[in-house]
Amino acid sequence: MFDTLQVPDEHRYDGRMKYRRCGRSGLLLPEISLGCWHNFGDRTPPEQQRSMIFKAFDLGITHFDLANNYGPPFGAAERNVGRILKQLPRDELAISTKAGYIMWPGPHGEWGSRKHLLASLDQSLRRLGVDYVDIFYSHRLDAETPLEETLGALDSAVRAGKALYVGISSYPSDQTQSAIEICRDNKFQRLLIHQPNYSMLNRWIEKRLLDVCDDAGLGVIAFCPLYQGLLTDKYLNGVPTLSRHVVAPHFLRELDMQPAILDSIQKLNDIARERGQSLAQMSIAWILRDPRITSVLCGASGVDQIVENCHAVNHARFTDEELLQINDVLVPIKMPLSLWAAD
Ligand code: NAP
Repeated sequence: MFDTLQVPDEHRYDGRMKYRRCGRSGLLLPEISLGCWHNFGDRTPPEQQRSMIFKAFDLGITHFDLANNYGPPFGAAERNVGRILKQLPRDELAISTKAGYIMWPGPHGEWGSRKHLLASLDQSLRRLGVDYVDIFYSHRLDAETPLEETLGALDSAVRAGKALYVGISSYPSDQTQSAIEICRDNKFQRLLIHQPNYSMLNRWIEKRLLDVCDDAGLGVIAFCPLYQGLLTDKYLNGVPTLSRHVVAPHFLRELDMQPAILDSIQKLNDIARERGQSLAQMSIAWILRDPRITSVLCGASGVDQIVENCHAVNHARFTDEELLQINDVLVPIKMPLSLWAAD
């Protein structure tokens, strides 16, 4: 299947997408990247996956984010996306993957040991069908494993030519600061990037993490920028059958969909319309308003969503008044505890 090379749009770099430098590195990432956590497993038709990835690339999205256990089943997204990306020019792509969450049974199947990280990376390379990934992440902090061991494993991945850059995901600010110092003191490969959860509905990184990363020259790529679809027009008029909340209610939970929260989403939608944007576009633009952000890591279930979201980069400026209006809606919202670690 899919053995012909895709002919990409020759205008893909004509200015529709913008690129930002990832911290103090040479790597440029698109302002919008495509995340393959959902909708790239074995339950999504291959043609749908293919059209999303090719459209993303035609729109200038060069960065595709994966993890060992994205699916379902675990590993399927790397296999499926790897097969599709094979038809695009490898040197134009930045492919990332991660290890740290449960991937296989037994004592080495998760967390931050050298054993888990390096074994998992080898598996990922095989599934993706590539010689190296551009970014390899420690997916979550492992409080039981010395940080030196986890970061040493990332360093080994780069020295072995299996990753070009390394990053950390969902590490709280203090441990991010420690990780930066450990890499420096041990002459490990420096961290390129942090991948935290960040959106209008989860602003934890504004307290400290953004400054920690900025001071050390790390880029920041925001995951779940649309709060898994809540910050779009998807749930403005009820819950559609084909939606994250229905398909994966353990991730976009009932408690995320309380009436007071949904009421605030309507108000945000009104502000977006006043700006001439959809709510999804405003939510992405709002993240891009901060120059310390490198990229916004969006998920999608269809091509139309990717097209809509990419338009956000053309209108990413806010007036002070608009920001105040948005804050007035956001400040009173009481979100339930995040699924991901934060300060
Ligand atoms: P998201 O962008 O907040 O949500 C994506 C979902 O929102 C889509 O699946 C779709 O939901 C809906 N959507 C997107 N654009 C839309 C539009 N224009 N209109 C209406 N609905 C729209 O992000 P996410 O998928 O939760 O996560 C994004 C990526 O972040 C992941 O793929 C992964 O790469 C990364 N991530 C990393 C971690 C980590 O621990 N590092 C954790 C989570 C995610 P429907 O499917 O309902 O249509």
